[in-house]
Amino acid sequence: MIFVCKKHVKKGLKMVFLPHIQPISDENKITGNFHCHACAQWADFKLYNFESHRKQAVKKAM
Ligand SMILES: [Zn+2]
Repeated sequence: MIFVCKKHVKKGLKMVFLPHIQPISDENKITGNFHCHACAQWADFKLYNFESHRKQAVKKAM
Protein backbone atom coordinates (compact mmCIF):
# COMPACT_ATOMS: atom_id res chain seq x y z
CA MET A 1 0.00 0.00 0.00
CA ILE A 2 1.35 3.42 -0.94
CA PHE A 3 0.11 6.99 -0.83
CA VAL A 4 0.25 9.48 -3.69
CA CYS A 5 -0.77 13.05 -4.43
CA LYS A 6 -2.94 14.00 -7.44
CA LYS A 7 0.10 14.53 -9.63
CA HIS A 8 1.59 11.11 -9.02
CA VAL A 9 -1.46 8.87 -9.24
CA LYS A 10 -0.33 7.45 -12.59
CA LYS A 11 3.13 6.76 -11.27
CA GLY A 12 1.69 5.04 -8.23
CA LEU A 13 -0.63 2.89 -10.33
CA LYS A 14 2.38 1.43 -12.11
CA MET A 15 3.99 0.50 -8.80
CA VAL A 16 1.08 -1.47 -7.37
CA PHE A 17 0.05 -4.88 -8.68
CA LEU A 18 -3.68 -4.93 -9.51
CA PRO A 19 -4.10 -1.46 -8.06
CA HIS A 20 -7.17 -0.18 -6.34
CA ILE A 21 -7.46 3.48 -5.56
CA GLN A 22 -9.14 5.11 -2.61
CA PRO A 23 -9.33 8.85 -1.97
CA ILE A 24 -8.10 9.98 1.42
CA SER A 25 -10.76 11.96 3.23
CA ASP A 26 -9.93 15.46 4.45
CA GLU A 27 -10.24 14.18 7.99
CA ASN A 28 -7.66 11.45 7.40
CA LYS A 29 -5.35 13.89 5.63
CA ILE A 30 -5.16 15.93 8.82
CA THR A 31 -4.94 13.09 11.31
CA GLY A 32 -3.11 10.47 9.23
CA ASN A 33 -0.14 12.52 8.07
CA PHE A 34 0.08 10.70 4.71
CA HIS A 35 2.70 11.80 2.22
CA CYS A 36 3.08 11.12 -1.48
CA HIS A 37 5.45 8.28 -2.27
CA ALA A 38 6.99 10.23 -5.16
CA CYS A 39 7.27 13.83 -3.99
CA ALA A 40 6.54 13.82 -0.23
CA GLN A 41 3.75 16.36 -0.59
CA TRP A 42 0.44 15.68 1.16
CA ALA A 43 -1.14 12.56 -0.32
CA ASP A 44 -4.63 12.61 -1.83
CA PHE A 45 -5.03 8.93 -2.65
CA LYS A 46 -4.25 5.55 -1.22
CA LEU A 47 -3.24 2.78 -3.63
CA TYR A 48 -3.44 -0.84 -2.59
CA ASN A 49 -4.20 -4.26 -4.04
CA PHE A 50 -6.60 -7.06 -3.30
CA GLU A 51 -4.17 -9.86 -4.07
CA SER A 52 -4.46 -11.53 -0.65
CA HIS A 53 -8.26 -11.31 -0.77
CA ARG A 54 -8.26 -12.82 -4.21
CA LYS A 55 -6.24 -15.83 -3.06
CA GLN A 56 -8.69 -16.47 -0.26
CA ALA A 57 -11.58 -16.25 -2.69
CA VAL A 58 -9.93 -18.84 -4.92
CA LYS A 59 -9.51 -21.22 -1.98
CA LYS A 60 -13.17 -20.89 -1.08
CA ALA A 61 -14.21 -21.53 -4.67
CA MET A 62 -12.23 -24.78 -4.72
ZN1 LIG B 1 3.43 13.47 -5.51
